[in-house]
Amino acid sequence: RDRIDIDGISVSPDHFIGGRRVSSPETFETRCPFDWDRKLADISRGDAETARLSVAAAAEAFPAWAALTPAERATYLHRLADLIEERKDDIAQVECLDMAMLLESLRLRVISRAALNFRNYADLALEHQERVWSSKGTLNRVIRMPAGPALIITPWNAPFMLSTWKCAPALAAGNTVILKPADWSPLSASLLGDLIDEAGIPPGVFNIVQGGAELGNALTSDPGVRRISFTGSVPTARIIGKNAAENIVPFTAELGGKSALLVFEDADIDAAAKKAAGQYDDSGQVCMAGSRLIVQDSVKEEFLERFHAYTDAHVLGDSRDPATTVSAMIHPVHVERVLGFIDRARAAGDEIVRGGKRWKEGANWVEPTLIVPTGNDSEVVQNEVFGPVLTFQTFTDEAEGVALANSTEYGLSGVIYTGNADRAERVGRQVRGGTVWVNTFLVRDLTAPFGGIGISGIGREGGDYALDFHSDLKTLQILEG
Ligand code: ADP
Repeated sequence: RDRIDIDGISVSPDHFIGGRRVSSPETFETRCPFDWDRKLADISRGDAETARLSVAAAAEAFPAWAALTPAERATYLHRLADLIEERKDDIAQVECLDMAMLLESLRLRVISRAALNFRNYADLALEHQERVWSSKGTLNRVIRMPAGPALIITPWNAPFMLSTWKCAPALAAGNTVILKPADWSPLSASLLGDLIDEAGIPPGVFNIVQGGAELGNALTSDPGVRRISFTGSVPTARIIGKNAAENIVPFTAELGGKSALLVFEDADIDAAAKKAAGQYDDSGQVCMAGSRLIVQDSVKEEFLERFHAYTDAHVLGDSRDPATTVSAMIHPVHVERVLGFIDRARAAGDEIVRGGKRWKEGANWVEPTLIVPTGNDSEVVQNEVFGPVLTFQTFTDEAEGVALANSTEYGLSGVIYTGNADRAERVGRQVRGGTVWVNTFLVRDLTAPFGGIGISGIGREGGDYALDFHSDLKTLQILEG
């Protein structure tokens, strides 16, 4: 297929398999969330044949890639990171048009962090020392062996960052990769295909295939895939988990969240309220979002007053405009899904304190919405909405606050605002979540472990944890003397 011109940036609509562009007979379209009449591209829709070809390419390239030293692999990964930095503005522009993340944040932070993922893992794989010790008259040595082709399946909400976060450790560990981005935001991954080629990464080492559930299902069922790393929804994780079990393949899943933003009376209330209003950025389409505001009774009025003031200051609009603070939602289907949560909450007697409807006729925004639920068992409290919808609950003492924070099946993250260092430590340990922030939010060292508890996921990624996941650990024991 011909390459597509998107505001002067050339993007391939095809898969990138074995170092070549490959098309599929069927296509799917991708549109701009904040300008829905604008079709961006028709993209090849991968099918069972695409799955077969890409796994075969990854399997063929695997032995040579696995045989390289970590230092040799690091050279390729740094080159790829350099190219991402060089093309940063183009990647940011395409990602912004495709999924509406704010352009300024893409340019200033997100794309560079994506490049950093490759640098971090290039270095980590180099630093890693094999564990060696003597016992029972033998020398024990723990060796990390590359595992084989790794399948990476990513969601639509932070495509470039998440894809690189998940692919980098696989490549650094010596695995070859098949990346399947989500079909609602496929374009930045396609640009990545060009950079992989330009970086001279050997054909078949890093493949990118485009499509949805059909392709995902074919890939996860393929016995040639030796690792599956998934970020997405709970229902999809259940399907993937069954396929992984069938082939006895390790898999990690980073799923949704319904995280608490817990505000104590001893906190900097203004900072907490500002961060709470900040949950509407990206229209709440963030897995780690602190979407349940849980505030101590004694500071409720002060908190709400400031929260409303900060929320009033939000600007919905074109993600390329620096004035915009709330980006559009990804797709009209998703807008309807979120409105459905609000309608059911209203019907169940929950109080819609602000927002609650579509911003404008035909626009992909829901107004920043705050709901006071009738009870903790309300659907909108217990389920991830993944939209600009926050719930508001109060508590009297610490134990009650923690109990509320821990009262869903999720456990991805948590946010605590307190001015008391002892409480920060105590409550930080008690709040259920793979990542808990105190007096801040979303600050992440990319080498720290990341993942969820309960239905928020299985396994941890980040740092050495991801390198271990992507390796087969071997204990080599040699008789001493
Ligand atoms: P979201 O609600 O974030 O769209 P999904 O779980 O539907 O979450 O999608 C996350 C990723 O999983 C996407 O890349 C999507 O195409 C892929 N996917 C969806 N269904 C399947 C499936 N049955 N098998 C494998 N991957 C799938």
